[in-house]
Amino acid sequence: MKAIRVHQFGGPEVMELEDVPTPKLEAGQVLVRVEAAGVNPVDTYIRAGSYARRPELPFTPGIDGAGTVAGVGTGVSGIEVGARVYGGWPSSGTYAEMAIYPAEQIYPLPPQISFQQGAGIFVPYSTAHRALFSKGQAQSGETVLVHGATGSVGLAATQLAVAAGMRVLGTGGTPEGRSLVLDQGASQVFDHHSPDYPAEILAATAGRGVDVILEMLANVNLEQDLNLVASYGRIVVIGSRGSLEINPRAVMSKESIVTGLTLFNTRPEDLTQIQKALQIGLQDGTLRPVINREFSLAEANQAHRWLLQPGAQGNLVLIL
Ligand code: NAP
Repeated sequence: MKAIRVHQFGGPEVMELEDVPTPKLEAGQVLVRVEAAGVNPVDTYIRAGSYARRPELPFTPGIDGAGTVAGVGTGVSGIEVGARVYGGWPSSGTYAEMAIYPAEQIYPLPPQISFQQGAGIFVPYSTAHRALFSKGQAQSGETVLVHGATGSVGLAATQLAVAAGMRVLGTGGTPEGRSLVLDQGASQVFDHHSPDYPAEILAATAGRGVDVILEMLANVNLEQDLNLVASYGRIVVIGSRGSLEINPRAVMSKESIVTGLTLFNTRPEDLTQIQKALQIGLQDGTLRPVINREFSLAEANQAHRWLLQPGAQGNLVLIL
């Protein structure tokens, strides 16, 4: 089968398209014919060797994927060959024609959700769900700032928060991205590159601040977030690409909570519960993964270059 292989950590150019044997199906596993693979920022960190978890070389990248079941191992029940599925935490990477998953990490793909959209579910929506509800403790009627709402996690968080009856304020770096965030149901959008946006957000909340902030770039924004959060508010760090200095006094005076998450740390039972919730939203149309751009498998290195450019508008996917 065709697969992307990484033989040494480095830039996007270390990803090579190769012919490799189809991974061997073992007991308790499911073999999936991958139709689309999601491209997430974590894939670029893993490929670069800068992520806390470094896979053994050589490896096939890719966590997100959707396709059809091509085989089931002994001891697996309730999953039929030919079923449309998406998955999380594959045992082999999804930048490949075939991927192996533990059976419990395979989920049904509703008929109205395309394979491309299916490849944008697991990492973005699980992260957004956990950040919003579990870490942020966001409640219906509260105001949530999705700081970086144009990317795959931000759009997922916007849809989840709107569906749960929250008022969503979103930020984006381009007019097209901000318009997309409004299309997902956000009440107001702001330009996170404008020096005026903090004052605009405070004005939008009559000076009170927001109840919850989901933060995609904490090294740039965390200090400002402490000004934008309401008393007793929660700031959830989802993404950060560096360090910064803050004055902890701001946390004291508002009694705000600053927390963070890593999707890899999610307990299996919590992950199962999150997927059940996502299934409902995917089926009733409140959750609709947005695909920004499609690449072929051979263009994986271009997709990684594209992903780190400004101007996000949803998910990037590789079409197999
Ligand atoms: P993405 O699709 O590449 O989107 C990146 C987002 O960051 C875009 O909305 C972008 O907006 C925004 N951004 C850029 N500059 C910003 C600024 N100054 N202030 C606020 N936002 C800014 O990435 P993603 O998949 O949504 O992931 C977002 C971040 O979360 C990444 O750092 C990723 O590594 C991290 N993440 C963490 C976990 C976890 O387990 N903790 C899981 C998934 C993702 P514009 O392009 O419109 O400027």
